[in-house]
Amino acid sequence: MVSRKHTLRLWAFIILVLVTAGVYTNERARHQKVVRVTQQMFVEEPIPKQDEQPIFVDVTSDQHPIEPELNAKPVTEIKPSVSAKPKPVVRTCPATDPDAPDLTLFPISPTLGIGRARPSELVSIPTMFSLSGGFFCLNQVARDSFQEMARAAERDGVLLIVVSAYRSAAHQGQLQANNEPDEHDHASVAAPGHSEHQLGTTIDLTSGTVSVYTFHRFAESAEYAWLVQNAADYGFVQSYRPGDEDLTGYIAEPWHWRYIGVDHAKKLADQNIPLVTYLTNLALETEDSSNGDEQ
Ligand SMILES: [Zn+2]
Repeated sequence: MVSRKHTLRLWAFIILVLVTAGVYTNERARHQKVVRVTQQMFVEEPIPKQDEQPIFVDVTSDQHPIEPELNAKPVTEIKPSVSAKPKPVVRTCPATDPDAPDLTLFPISPTLGIGRARPSELVSIPTMFSLSGGFFCLNQVARDSFQEMARAAERDGVLLIVVSAYRSAAHQGQLQANNEPDEHDHASVAAPGHSEHQLGTTIDLTSGTVSVYTFHRFAESAEYAWLVQNAADYGFVQSYRPGDEDLTGYIAEPWHWRYIGVDHAKKLADQNIPLVTYLTNLALETEDSSNGDEQ
């Protein structure tokens, strides 16, 4: 006869197993959703040349599958290989220029470029925030601010996923070669030396919760609505808004966000003008005041 105490314990155990299985299934479903979203998008971006990609050192490349042979020796005679151990893949950000000036507030545009300048430093974005675990880099301040923003977004139930960040001039040239301007001659891809991505402060984002909300449809996502409300608190602004196309020279890009610091991001929101206009005014004011000092 099973006692009442034992029966209660048995039920408690069954409930614990069911709850654990439920939590695991939920976590797994969420993870699979993000993976599904991230695998479906941005496949059209060309792969940069070897020397311009983040450096992927595949230390496992000395391993080859063992070809089956008819006269193969018994498995027991194969000595264990040292190289059979899984080794980590080392990934590092592209080359930087430690002497480069800070270009965080540079009014880069189709007519004002930075040549082949590189940022003075680059650090990687944790792959948990990126598309398909992709490897992307930003300067330290922009990277840290993005992480803070992405965590705040997640607390509010939206997932900001990075699909692009720093791009060198050479990488940009390859992207541009594969793109055509729209019927009004508004570009969707900047020329090398003219892309905000070359500053190391700019990210392209997609929705981690709804897979169809890519590129222009990102504007329909909860992630975009969250960014419009909150991004300035973390120093990020939308560079190319709808309605500004003739002024910026670019199509509206809801997915494209640039870090300019919290103070400037909030001032820009107050002024409600295109970013390039704000930064040009700022550069002119700075030039005026420095000329004034010299007189
Ligand atoms: Zn972009």
